[in-house]
Amino acid sequence: MVDLTRRFDVLVIGGGNAALCAAISARRAGASVLVLEGAPKFYRGGNTRHTRNMRCAHDAATEILTGPYTEEEFWNDLLLVTGGQTDEELARFMIHESKDILNWIVEQGVRWQPSLGGTLSLGRTNSFFLGGGRAMLNALYRTAEELGVDILYDAEVIDLNIEDGMFLSAQLKQPVGGKTEVRASTLVAAAGGFEANIEWLKQYWGEAADNFLIRGTPFNRGAILKMLLAKGVQEIGDPTQCHAVAIDARAPKFDGGIITRHDSVVFGIVVNRHAERFYDEGEDIWPKRYAIWGRLVAAQPDQIAYIIFDSTVVTSFMPTLFPPIAGATIAELAGKLELDPAALEKTITEFNAAVQPGTFDHTILDDCRTEGISPPKTHWARRIETPPYLAYPVRPGITFTYLGARVNKQARMLMQDGKPSANMFAAGEIMAGNVLGKGYAAGMGMTIGSVFGRVAGREAAKNARN
Ligand SMILES: Cc1cc2nc3c(=O)[nH]c(=O)nc-3n(C[C@H](O)[C@H](O)[C@H](O)COP(=O)(O)OP(=O)(O)OC[C@H]3O[C@@H](n4cnc5c(N)ncnc54)[C@H](O)[C@@H]3O)c2cc1C
Repeated sequence: MVDLTRRFDVLVIGGGNAALCAAISARRAGASVLVLEGAPKFYRGGNTRHTRNMRCAHDAATEILTGPYTEEEFWNDLLLVTGGQTDEELARFMIHESKDILNWIVEQGVRWQPSLGGTLSLGRTNSFFLGGGRAMLNALYRTAEELGVDILYDAEVIDLNIEDGMFLSAQLKQPVGGKTEVRASTLVAAAGGFEANIEWLKQYWGEAADNFLIRGTPFNRGAILKMLLAKGVQEIGDPTQCHAVAIDARAPKFDGGIITRHDSVVFGIVVNRHAERFYDEGEDIWPKRYAIWGRLVAAQPDQIAYIIFDSTVVTSFMPTLFPPIAGATIAELAGKLELDPAALEKTITEFNAAVQPGTFDHTILDDCRTEGISPPKTHWARRIETPPYLAYPVRPGITFTYLGARVNKQARMLMQDGKPSANMFAAGEIMAGNVLGKGYAAGMGMTIGSVFGRVAGREAAKNARN
């Protein structure tokens, strides 16, 4: 039974990777720590439950990483995907700290495994969690409990008492027990983004947001972020920017997870509901491009698109939860997709005619390309001509939003007047926009949470002592 009448040194709001890294780090620094996780125990861990890997810099190959990934290369990748929309000082700090996270996270009980084949070709840059994100979380929870961190589930924070940039208390609401005022010397906000709040998304995306599917937890509704911004914390990031991929249109509204994501785009073409192509499916290698397809589909009529391929490539990518829709002819496939058969036949005929001879290799930017059509397919273009013809319907799958709370290198929140908050820290999705102005490189969500979670916990503990 957690004694809620006492005043804790550090209150952590959230129950995912960022929260647990913060809680463990604060506790190891000698602080008393309370974690409030809004979800029930079975659903604990927010989006972290769905993860598989983390991107960390390292100077040499390890037991599970196939080669070095220097700080400079990580920085260059980040620069490329964000188009320079990042806080260089914070980003370089995060990249530097990520080197140490590879070992630190193992010290907290997490285990690595070699990269999974056939996924995003991440064997050199990203470390995979043995047993996936849920096993990773279980290890962090076990360590936190062993260290004496107090954890409450079904513990939604519904209000924050903040005066002049200083956190005083939080109001907690529980199904049994009702509302309680929780006091602590410092706050670590690690309560995720606002991706599960469709009404909030609609403010920027309009009615289109009704057609978005949320890949992760329904509990990341952004309530904590909203309260912080309303109470004077400086905001960072563009509210329309987020990580969004193409996921199966048949996926559930929330929590469809990784098995609903489609990685087959490079092996075929993508058309909208007018059966027209709208983007170069072979622009760059998939790990650098998979995260643009959510936004691309969001911009199409009715926010739906169809990945079309033929029977020759079905074993080339990871199978997903849903089987492809098949047709013996293109017209039959079009009928099943409720597309205009003549329009789909025209698009595929024109595409096939534009394909140039080349040597196919999906692991490099190969020379299989189209000529004379717009948009082009600049790599991996092969004719779609061997029945059965196959398709996956896809919709935008929102992973997490980037609008967040501005922080400094101590993970301390900055107030609207530019001054650091007296005792409030943030980690994870809730501050991801500091590093990710736009774009994404696979595995960075967990880097942001682990690095800034660890720092936030340590700094919050120090703050509480002073
Ligand atoms: C399907 C999927 C696959 C992914 N794969 C990867 C991957 O392989 N690698 C990677 O780096 N990233 C991946 N990501 C992104 C990654 O999940 C996130 O970046 C990361 O987990 C964020 O951690 P976090 O702790 O900030 O948020 P979360 O893990 O989402 O935790 C937020 C927590 O806050 C709690 N909460 C929210 N509001 C309240 C409130 N009012 N009161 C109390 N608690 C509250 C939630 O219940 C939740 O526990 C993936 C995401 C999804 C959806």
